[in-house]
Amino acid sequence: MSIYTLIQKIKPKRPLYVQLLFTIFAFLIMVLLSNAFMSNIVRMYLKQNAINILDSAQAQIISDLIEPQTVLDDVSRITRTMVLRGDNADNLQDYLTTVLEYLFLDNHRNAVYSTLFGYFETLPGGPAFIEGRIRDMADWYTPTERSWYQNAIAANGEIATTMIDSDIIYDSPVLIFSRCIFDDSGRRLGAVGLRIEIDGIGNFVVNTATAQGGYGVLISEDLVLFAHPNREFIGKNIREDGIPLSVLADKLTSGKDITEYPMISYKGEDAVAFFRQLPNGWYLGVDFPRLPYYKSVINLALILSILGIALASVLSFVLIRVDAARNKSDMENRYKSAFLANMSHEIRTPMNAIIGMTELLANEQLSERQMSFIDDIWVSAHSLLSIINNILDLSKIESGKFTLVPVNYDFHALIDNIISMFSYVAQKKGLEFRFESTGNLPECLYGDDLRLRQVLTNICGNAVKYTEKGQVKLKISISSGNLVFDISDTGMGIRKEDICRLFDAFERMEIEKNRSITGTGLGLSICKSFVEMMGGCILVDSEYERGSVFTVIIPAVLGDKAKIKSAKNTGKERPLYAPCATILVVDDNEFNLRVAKGLLNLFKINTKTAFSGKKAIDLIQKNEFDLVFMDHMMPEMDGVEAVGIIRKLGTQYENMPIIALTANAIQGAKDMFLSNGFNGFISKPIEIQELNEVLREWLPPEKIVEKELASLNVDSQYDETSGDFISALGEIDEINTEIGLSRVSGMKDMYYEILALFHKKLAAERDAMSEAINTKDIKSFAIQVHAMKSVLSTIGAMNLSVAAFKLESAAKTNNVNYCQERFPAFREKLTNLYKKLLAVFPADKTKKKPGDTNYLSDKISKALEAADDFNGDSAFRITTDLLAHDFGDQNNVLLENAATAFENFDYNAARELLSKVSL
Ligand code: ADP
Repeated sequence: MSIYTLIQKIKPKRPLYVQLLFTIFAFLIMVLLSNAFMSNIVRMYLKQNAINILDSAQAQIISDLIEPQTVLDDVSRITRTMVLRGDNADNLQDYLTTVLEYLFLDNHRNAVYSTLFGYFETLPGGPAFIEGRIRDMADWYTPTERSWYQNAIAANGEIATTMIDSDIIYDSPVLIFSRCIFDDSGRRLGAVGLRIEIDGIGNFVVNTATAQGGYGVLISEDLVLFAHPNREFIGKNIREDGIPLSVLADKLTSGKDITEYPMISYKGEDAVAFFRQLPNGWYLGVDFPRLPYYKSVINLALILSILGIALASVLSFVLIRVDAARNKSDMENRYKSAFLANMSHEIRTPMNAIIGMTELLANEQLSERQMSFIDDIWVSAHSLLSIINNILDLSKIESGKFTLVPVNYDFHALIDNIISMFSYVAQKKGLEFRFESTGNLPECLYGDDLRLRQVLTNICGNAVKYTEKGQVKLKISISSGNLVFDISDTGMGIRKEDICRLFDAFERMEIEKNRSITGTGLGLSICKSFVEMMGGCILVDSEYERGSVFTVIIPAVLGDKAKIKSAKNTGKERPLYAPCATILVVDDNEFNLRVAKGLLNLFKINTKTAFSGKKAIDLIQKNEFDLVFMDHMMPEMDGVEAVGIIRKLGTQYENMPIIALTANAIQGAKDMFLSNGFNGFISKPIEIQELNEVLREWLPPEKIVEKELASLNVDSQYDETSGDFISALGEIDEINTEIGLSRVSGMKDMYYEILALFHKKLAAERDAMSEAINTKDIKSFAIQVHAMKSVLSTIGAMNLSVAAFKLESAAKTNNVNYCQERFPAFREKLTNLYKKLLAVFPADKTKKKPGDTNYLSDKISKALEAADDFNGDSAFRITTDLLAHDFGDQNNVLLENAATAFENFDYNAARELLSKVSL
């Protein structure tokens, strides 16, 4: 498979809107996913940050609280010793003051020592409260009533911790560590206490998260806030109204850590809180407002969205442009293919006529000089035809519409054919042609034999073309399941640097040197495509001025000998007769019917005709036809519709062969016909060879009698008396005989017949048009002038046909003035043509015997009787007999039309026409 076809296959076939939706969707997903990932990363970062802050704050708080307890431990031991020793209050005061001064010296702590004190119950001077800083303590201070003292007693020798929200000395929360001292017998000697300001710890906690945009919170075991950035909250229970942390109260007391708890901060910001309980029962927490953290995510989301929208728009724009360009190029390609197919069809038709006539001419008695001219025409026509075929092949390959048609075929026969062809061609050029094969070549292969033949013919042809002396050799071998064809020559060879361009379309090497050699540079490009489609390849090895070797390698797919289509079925060279076959031709144009009928007559086939799809449906049900030729474009019911109805008539009509007749044989038409119930199609003007092939394919084999093609024309109705009519027509400027002849595949007798028919009907049809113009019946005029246009084109009267076309267009747009103005001149030209044609169809040939009225009325009633018995053939014969007589212009036309109606089994129309005959 070539890369081109591979690309064609994988080419996205999705419509544009799906591609656009996909693009937008992809970008949307990308933006959403990136945001989700980023949010997750920020969340993790936030969480980790919180944990780190809580860890370090916790460590600091614990260390801040351990030192005062150690100090108190020492103080309690020393004061106990002093009391037991009998020291008085002054001694103890001095001691506490000294220690306190020492403690004040070292002020690096968060927990600031504020005082050291004791209540000693067994001093010589009686119980005394001694304070390290204040010598004379106020009388109203009763230590035994204070909570620190009571807590110390309750702690029974252990250190008690007392939180005081608002101290009587310092208007801020303080923490007092206190402990009782006892003598050896366990008698209480008093209690000592150390007071520290916890504002420092609180500030430290609050500030610990400020660097991260948040703040810290410290809550006592009984849920009293003693560190919070809003100092108004300090000392309050978090359950109190107006404290933003109240929502956390229950969660905190449950003892579990709080992680990422969404809440509104005291500043009213959207925040997340992290809390944990410290070993001493306090709750330490941090609050982070979300915005600063998620700001980067929001920014990123914004940037990504903008980028996404921009990229999606750019991509969509590119897609739209690419789609538009692809549509344009597809359309151009379709136009190109249609144009090439049309053009090659149009050229091939006359080319085939030229070749066919050249062949016929070659059978005539000609001088040697004339024969050599014929040879030249034949060679040139064939080379022109091969160029046209190449262009057609290339256009099909390029538009990806070319497919191989594999069949079982006789490989030996194919090779024999190539050998005999090139032995002859090489010998003619004075070259030796050698053939060699190694191994047992398979008898039958499965593949596209026509395309393989084309490849081998092209490469062997090149070998002969580009070799002046020496030999051309074809060697065939089998290697690892592949067929290998080596075509070597001793010719001019190819330069190494040219080899890479060899397979490019329209590339020819050494144009100067090869000027005399005809070629287009298409052959090898087409060969390469074909061979690649077969799953093979072509290799080249060449030595400049010594010769070249082209190696074609294709997989050898063995075929089934029994399934080989017999040579008899290819039919091209072998014409046929089918005297027992009956064919129906359906066309709304009488001239086309005549041409088709005349052509089928050459095959001795019985032909019935129908003017419309409806008539055809009717006839098909009343008669048995072996084959139907159905025109495509017909008024009222076109061919496609008619076939649709016929196929539904019953099982016997499902397989009835119906071939489309079409003037528009463009690419794609075949598929359209096949998918609409037709069995095939044949293009107009009909070519004999093509018709021969269709007949052989579709007529029942038992009705086919073999016949040499050359003798087909022998049964012509065209006699010698009309032999000179072509040269006589040459005098008539209005008619281009070449075009006229090409319309009937070059058959002069047919041309003669349709011209005679045209001449016979011209006057009546011209008058009918005049009548329509005079009565301003523009609708009828349009129909008549449309028919006249196509008839004029069929006989080759092109200028008149164009004039008719203009009148038709004007009539269709109701331009009565134009028609009335221009018709007289057109009528004049038709009359002139009629007169000129009288010279070709002499009066005596068209002159009729004077008619007798009795005879006429007798025959008419017989024809009507026959029609009543549904004996259309007799009715037709009787009416045709009448045509040999002259019953006056008007009657003559009515009789002619009635005969045609009988011929088409249109009995109602025939009866109506005959009733109008004036007796
Ligand atoms: P064409 O023969 O119609 O020009 P091809 O595509 O068949 O086109 O060949 C392309 C070109 O390759 C030829 O024009 C010729 O220059 C060169 N070439 C092909 N075959 C041979 C050969 N056997 N020896 C030398 N040159 C060759």
